[in-house]
Amino acid sequence: MGLPHVVILGGGFGGLYAARALRRAPVRITLVDRRNHHLFQPLLYQVATAALSPAQIGVALRRVLRRQKNVAVMLAEATAIDTRHKRVELRDGALDYDFLIVATGATHSYFGHDEWAAWAPGLKSLEDAVEIRRRMLLAYEAAERDPAHCELFLTFVVVGGGPTGVEMAGALAEIARHVLKGDFRNIDPASARVVLVEAGPRLLPAFPPDLAAAATHRLERMGVQVRLGTAVTSIDAGGVSLGSERIASRCVVWAADKAGRVSVEPDLSIPGAPDAFVIGDLAAVPGVPGLAPAAIQGGRHVARIIAGGARKPFRYRDKGSLATIGRAAAVAQIGRLHINGFIAWVLWLVVHILTLIGFRNRFVVLGEWAAAYLRHERGARLITGDVQPLLTHSPEAGRDEPR
Ligand SMILES: Cc1cc2nc3c(=O)[nH]c(=O)nc-3n(C[C@H](O)[C@H](O)[C@H](O)COP(=O)(O)OP(=O)(O)OC[C@H]3O[C@@H](n4cnc5c(N)ncnc54)[C@H](O)[C@@H]3O)c2cc1C
Repeated sequence: MGLPHVVILGGGFGGLYAARALRRAPVRITLVDRRNHHLFQPLLYQVATAALSPAQIGVALRRVLRRQKNVAVMLAEATAIDTRHKRVELRDGALDYDFLIVATGATHSYFGHDEWAAWAPGLKSLEDAVEIRRRMLLAYEAAERDPAHCELFLTFVVVGGGPTGVEMAGALAEIARHVLKGDFRNIDPASARVVLVEAGPRLLPAFPPDLAAAATHRLERMGVQVRLGTAVTSIDAGGVSLGSERIASRCVVWAADKAGRVSVEPDLSIPGAPDAFVIGDLAAVPGVPGLAPAAIQGGRHVARIIAGGARKPFRYRDKGSLATIGRAAAVAQIGRLHINGFIAWVLWLVVHILTLIGFRNRFVVLGEWAAAYLRHERGARLITGDVQPLLTHSPEAGRDEPR
């Protein structure tokens, strides 16, 4: 009989770390991903705001796993799972498994309003980040060509006050105030308005209130208009409605939180299918956040079970949370320690550099950040794709093809 076949769906944090944790196990692994790369999502907003290039936060899965001989990487999209026959359906084929790890991550939730996606792209993939970068940079180009509509073009709305929304809003304000200074002739980029909308009573709900307050204060000092307790009621070509209030905008970013969708047993297996597990963002486990460390720990946990370890319940070890707000500003919670400001930012920097997969990338990214910090520079200010539709103020122009 051959070695047990472990199929891992998804090469994100959960899937990749599960594969690595099985490196010495007597199994053969097929890691399936519909992309050829592992994506370091925590730095996606840096791509969306032109601080880093896509290649700096993605690394080919084959490359990462090249030395691990018990893994084969397969570029394919999984479409269905049949736990009874232990089989995964792919878009163009099928795979039989002995053990299955599903780590395909979460998708954006538009709270039942999927039509909003056309006007307010979310931030989940490299394509999303490049699209947001395109929209953001084109807004300034459009305003420069048509200063009469400057207010419309240069109003940026970020929906969602979690870490991604805070990071996005801070970066957008910084770009407006510092990065683009002096680059335009007909407009003053600093006149741009950045609005951060959060339905809950405060920003960063997963952080302690004092750090959330510090983040809010810092954003406001940077010129961001923070709107708390305010729910978005519609998004269309012309902007965002907040109840009776209307904000005209052509650049809206969806940064509302995503949630796990699959209920699992305490050991992360699928109910009724003890050899199939769900980990990471896709798993709905009470008290476990949708963060990279939770996905990594989940991956290692199920790898231990598959390698013959005891079937223990999954316990998440919270090592702390970090969120950056802008240049040299961040908040950090590590146990009872609450830090904000420069030290938290240095911590954020160190953690992200250390966890970035791919040795070469770490140095390149560090270099880019040093340049960005010292010179207010954003080295990836490239507009790709069709520019024409976003250069006009006509309301239909900003429509993104639904994905
Ligand atoms: C903008 C942003 C910022 C974030 N910032 C932080 C942060 O600062 N700190 C932190 O800890 N966490 C952060 N997170 C959360 C963190 O990135 C996630 O918790 C983590 O990536 C979850 O890992 P995962 O393995 O569950 O899924 P993912 O990393 O999303 O990986 C899923 C993989 O599955 C693949 N896939 C999906 N569907 C299929 C399919 N049908 N077939 C084949 N392959 C498929 C995808 O291509 C992808 O490679 C952030 C997330 C985002 C989006």
